[in-house]
Amino acid sequence: MSEKLNPWEAQLTNLKHVSDLMNLDPAVYEVVSKPMAILQVSLPIRMDNGSIKSFQAFRIHHNNARGPCKGGIRYFPELNLETEKALGAWMTWKNAVVNVPYGGAKGGIACDPKTLSQAELERLTRAYAAAIADFVGIDVDIPAPDVGTTPQIMAWFADEYYKISRRIIPGIITAKPVELGGSLGRTAATGRGCYFAAVEASRTFDIPIKGATVAVQGYGNAAYYSALNFHQGGAKLIAASDTRGGVYNAEGIDPEKLMKHKAQTRSVVGFPGCDAISSVDPLTVECDILVPAALENMITMENVTDVKAQLIVEAANGPITPEADNVLDERGIICLPDILANAGGVTVSYFEWVQNRMGYYWSEAEVDQRLEKVMKTAFQDVYEYAKRYAVNLRYGAYALALDRVAEAMRLRGWI
Ligand code: NAD
Repeated sequence: MSEKLNPWEAQLTNLKHVSDLMNLDPAVYEVVSKPMAILQVSLPIRMDNGSIKSFQAFRIHHNNARGPCKGGIRYFPELNLETEKALGAWMTWKNAVVNVPYGGAKGGIACDPKTLSQAELERLTRAYAAAIADFVGIDVDIPAPDVGTTPQIMAWFADEYYKISRRIIPGIITAKPVELGGSLGRTAATGRGCYFAAVEASRTFDIPIKGATVAVQGYGNAAYYSALNFHQGGAKLIAASDTRGGVYNAEGIDPEKLMKHKAQTRSVVGFPGCDAISSVDPLTVECDILVPAALENMITMENVTDVKAQLIVEAANGPITPEADNVLDERGIICLPDILANAGGVTVSYFEWVQNRMGYYWSEAEVDQRLEKVMKTAFQDVYEYAKRYAVNLRYGAYALALDRVAEAMRLRGWI
């Protein structure tokens, strides 16, 4: 059988495997193997040069059995419906794993934000908010950022939504700038959550973090804050990359200085004191901990046997194909799956929504403490399920999530 490079199919493969393993009522798979609703819109925008360009955009609701749908907005040139569906489903599972009262959603615009001016980006974001306004809502579907989107984009989205609804409803979207009701600690939350999950894994599987070498693929939000937290925890960042290439230094790289270099030059490439490597090389360098933090399908049957890490922390969604995952398993490499590892982002988004709803805000220390507790509990819950079914952590996480979502569907009378 050929390798499943379609993320939606890859997601279904894991889902089916675990549903069968758990001997679940077939009605569960029947319901969750189809997204609940898909909205596709075209957004005609006047570009700065006066021309009109129409952008394709989506919003997917995968499942809302456990609460309003929640998931990010991606601005990406090759955005497609299959990947968006998978990302929406992963949000359903992720929210169930960390036990926040949400279902799963995802959305995005097929565009390259790097080639758009700020004014074009703002017009496009406002057009998207207007087009999907009836499909989202504080108790319906709450967007957030993902690849290619920023707190400023969240702010424009929120402002447009406020104008349409004639209400200031900050909880309509999360990861806003702090000045507009964003939560302290949200920007760093995904990477910080990856680190908290890794700390639990390190205790459980006896893989020390202090002194460990860490390689990250990608150097955006999730990668940077993962690298920073590992660095602060006594590990050594030795490799990082972005779309333009990568850098390697066995003696260690300062994550903050690397981020400053990237902010100035738009790439990690050329960071002083490092050897040049490719965008994908961090995946296969000699290291203890690997953090894939770019996109889907990065570890495949082509390169899986070259992976040398002992522990993989999936900051990205879907970076490993199911077939490559089996190989990692056979090789005894521990993988903290995306629906557990990178759930820190949505957890603090949930905290933001809670704070917005009560109109009272927590300190950063309070947010971090709560996040740590959620990630620890989620790891232990996943580990329990993995032991119960004698499977790896990915299947354990799917089993936990399926149990929780199935129970909500049962209680609501869907199955
Ligand atoms: P981002 O846009 O901030 O960063 C993405 C980075 O990946 C960029 O540095 C880009 O250059 C790099 N990249 C893209 N393709 C690459 C390639 N082929 N090789 C090497 N580098 C490449 O995005 P982000 O928010 O950090 O998201 C990264 C991943 O983490 C995605 O899978 C996303 O879904 C996931 N994630 C993000 C969050 C969040 O809160 N931001 C939460 C959960 C999961």
